[in-house]
Amino acid sequence: MSEVLTASAEATAAEPPHPNLLQRGTRSHTPPASHKRNRESGASIPSEKRCAHCGENHPAAAFLRNERSADGLSSWCRTCHNEATRRWRAEHPERVAADNAARRRPRVELSCVECGAVFEGRAGQLVCGRRCKDARYRRLHPEAYRAKRARKNRRRREREAAA
Ligand SMILES: [Zn+2]
Ligand SMILES: [Zn+2]
Repeated sequence: MSEVLTASAEATAAEPPHPNLLQRGTRSHTPPASHKRNRESGASIPSEKRCAHCGENHPAAAFLRNERSADGLSSWCRTCHNEATRRWRAEHPERVAADNAARRRPRVELSCVECGAVFEGRAGQLVCGRRCKDARYRRLHPEAYRAKRARKNRRRREREAAA
């Protein structure tokens, strides 16, 4: 069991199985613009892929879409994702309870600290969405953002060199 846990802890660092993150991915109906760019730049979704967690080959439909990954698919299959989510929820009952309580709080009208737009959200929420969340991060942590982008570009060059 400890071996399994170690392996999943490693993968978790790259892809935290917090249920909110998974739900956000499945709930979006229109693919974000970044996904389109990804597809246009030549990356295409493979028909089959090996799950980084269970190590088995599955058809593309067995993976959640992830526009941030190189091939447009999540690195874990849905079954592994679901299992990790179930385990995470079982191990963090207090976080689950807090999430549920937050969901029960009524939505209020807020104004985005980044773009000033008025939006509906939960008390304490600062930005109107993903775009402003990223913009705020770039503004508050320019060094970290540059380092992150440099890593990303380096990985892309390595992929292109390998292809
Ligand atoms: Zn799997
Ligand atoms: Zn905003």
